[in-house]
Formats: sequence, C-alpha cells, structure tokens
Amino acid sequence: MQEKGLLIVLSGPSGVGKGTVRKEIFSQPDVAFEYSISMTTRKPREGEVDGVDYFFKEREEFEKLIAEDKLLEYAEYVGNYYGTPIEYVQQTIATGKDIFLEIEVQGAKQVREKFPDGLFIFLAPPSLSELKNRIVNRGTETEELIANRMKTAKEEIEMMELYDYVVENDEVKLACSRIKAIITAEHCRRDRVAERYKKMLEVE
Ligand code: 5GP
Repeated sequence: MQEKGLLIVLSGPSGVGKGTVRKEIFSQPDVAFEYSISMTTRKPREGEVDGVDYFFKEREEFEKLIAEDKLLEYAEYVGNYYGTPIEYVQQTIATGKDIFLEIEVQGAKQVREKFPDGLFIFLAPPSLSELKNRIVNRGTETEELIANRMKTAKEEIEMMELYDYVVENDEVKLACSRIKAIITAEHCRRDRVAERYKKMLEVE
C-alpha cells in the first residue's frame, strides 16, 4: 500500500505574515510538497490570478460547495468566505505527497478535528506591538478595524495550544527554514516510519 503524505497546516493570527512565509517557501527549489489552493469569495487583489493564488468564487457558488460537502474546512473572515477544496487534499495525500495548507485559525481547528495526525504549525508574531505595526503599515484598514484585528489576534495567540509547533516570524527566511526543518523532522518520527520498517522485515 502507498504510504500516505503528510497534511501540513500553517496558521496563525491575522497580519502575522502567513501568506508571505508560504510564498517564500514555495519559491524555493527544494520544496517537495504541494500547495492547497484555497477558495474565496473575496475579490482578487491586483496581480492575483484565479487558480494560482485562489479560486475566486461568488457567494452562491461557495455556499453550494459547503452544502455539497466539498470543503475540508471553511471560515468566514472579514466578511468573506475562505475554504479548502477537499478533493485535491485527499488525492495528494493518497499518492504519498505532502500537502501544505495556509489558512486562518478557525479553519485550522476544523482540520485538526478531521485530521488529528496532521502537522500543525502556528506562525507567531515576535510581539503584539510588532503585529500592530505590521497591520498599520499595510495602510489599508481603519482604526476600528485595526482594534478589532488586535483583539482577534490576542484570542488567536491563546489558541496556540492546538498546534504541534510554534514558529516565530521574526524574519521570513528564518521562519521558512524552521518550517522546513520541522517537516523534515516529522517525516523521521518513529511512529510515522515504524510501519515501513515492519513491512521491510516481513519481506526478508
Ligand atoms: P487574504 O484575504 O489576506 O488572502 O487572506 C485572509 C486570511 O484567510 C489569511 O489569514 C489566510 O491565511 C486565510 N485563508 C486563506 N485561505 C484559506 C482557507 O482556505 N481557509 C481558511 N480557513 N482560511 C484561509
């Protein structure tokens, strides 16, 4: 039987830099895992391409997919739906490849319930004031929205306990190499490789 791939979830508070870290990881040539492209009802930002950055959907289409159970998880975030198409995740894992999800924390919680033996990595800000600076520097949000985001971020940081690893995003390149190291280590865990060795001995 084909050994299953790992389901890797990168999550963390809003504004922490999940998207930047994920893009940096996938820009590196030695990455052997697949990216799960999410669906969203938010409008594309400049430069974003449908089917590359996201699958952009209308609300009705998204709600239909929810009703048909086609999403591994979904969440409503700042007025828009975001979700992970289940089929690609299942196919990828079944062929023995790892799949990498970059999602917000409500979705990560749902995945944890469905895939308890996935690898859950929490990307943490170096400090809350740093997080606030990053959100303000984006320059796209109002004061009220910033205050709301900060409150959410504090709550999200308390959610760290659902995760296997915490990676501080002090520097994007450092965060990426920590994440890659975690994935490499996870593949060497005894409980993940024991079955393979047992089978090898059966052949002898
Ligand atoms: P943005 O609109 O900035 O691209 O993403 C907003 C938030 O949605 C980010 O925290 C991102 O990680 C999260 N996100 C992206 N795709 C998904 C998804 O499929 N499911 C969930 N739950 N969150 C997602």
